[in-house]
Amino acid sequence: MTRRSLVLLLLLTAAIAMGVSRPRGLADVLDVRHWSYPDYTRVVIELSKPIETQVRHLAPNPAAKKSERLYLDLPGIWVGRDYKSGIPVGDGLLRSVRLGQNTLRTARVVIDVEQYDRHRLLFLTHPDRLVIDVYGRREAAGRRAVPGDPRDGRLPTDARSVRTVIVDPGHGGADPGAIGVGGLREKDVTLRLSKLLIAKLRAAGFEVVTTRENDRSVSLEERTAIAEASEGDVFVSLHANAAPRRTVQGIETFYPDANHERHSLRVAMRENGVSRDQLDELQRTLAKLRIGEISPYSQRLASLVQDQLAQALPSRYGKIQDLGAKKGPFYVLFLSDMPAILIEAGFVTNKSDAKRLRNGDFLDSVATQISTGLERYRDGGSTLARRNSK
Ligand SMILES: [Zn+2]
Repeated sequence: MTRRSLVLLLLLTAAIAMGVSRPRGLADVLDVRHWSYPDYTRVVIELSKPIETQVRHLAPNPAAKKSERLYLDLPGIWVGRDYKSGIPVGDGLLRSVRLGQNTLRTARVVIDVEQYDRHRLLFLTHPDRLVIDVYGRREAAGRRAVPGDPRDGRLPTDARSVRTVIVDPGHGGADPGAIGVGGLREKDVTLRLSKLLIAKLRAAGFEVVTTRENDRSVSLEERTAIAEASEGDVFVSLHANAAPRRTVQGIETFYPDANHERHSLRVAMRENGVSRDQLDELQRTLAKLRIGEISPYSQRLASLVQDQLAQALPSRYGKIQDLGAKKGPFYVLFLSDMPAILIEAGFVTNKSDAKRLRNGDFLDSVATQISTGLERYRDGGSTLARRNSK
């Protein structure tokens, strides 16, 4: 630190200590949370407005008695004194998270790391927040070491180890999801479908954990925190689609992949609640991740479920458009480290689809087919991804 910047820092510290009022037009840090997973720790910083930033890594500097750390500058953000003492983490990967006012108009987050391999940064909205996942090898006990477990750092070698299914009814609470014909709300369709699916899965011998049992708001990172904490083996997110053109109808199933096609991008923008620019940023992040290891499993699961839905729904519900199993950049699928799919069970904006989605018997049939697809995945279908994205 130069003499000049030291003087500025002292002045700034003194100014804050004296209670100098904050500059106008700044936004706030609303909350800081963290979760510890077997291979990574997630830090979420909730802000009162969206910002652009990047994570920087600093190697340890013994001469200056500085340990290894990551930092991010938050332009236009005011922290004041609220987080001065830092937030201890101490989970073997991170020591602590510290926040401070770096300049009068820029806050700084410092993450003191104990073990560091790599990190990723995601920007989520509603509310605006930064998600920083820090990956590393935890030395202390607590890591699960089940052979073939994807979270053991190896590939899942055998889908037959699938025991626990995480059922994730999309949206809820303040977030209705898509609203369609006659005011049909996506969040109601997904909750209803989830209850039917959970019963079928339990009857088929799966353990089931759900991310919401009633009409409440659940953030994307909370959904994946539930999945990781429950040691889920696969993640199934339930949604209903919407399109500006009312004639568009059908069922499709997505699996995570950094690549995509144009239609997937539109669905992902709606489901992620982000703009095109933010989605581009997400894809740059995804390109750096090792999702390729889990992707073939997600793809196979998506194909099996989509095949069931496209071919085995009773004919009394009429012709159902098979939109296929596709790649898509969905946050909720990337945020967890397990095979994951997202099912769009029909368009609430299409008259025929909406009528079916209101019908309990139809939803029961959809639940049966999803459960059968999961059973086929667990019981080891021999083909890997017969259906390519189309
Ligand atoms: Zn949705």
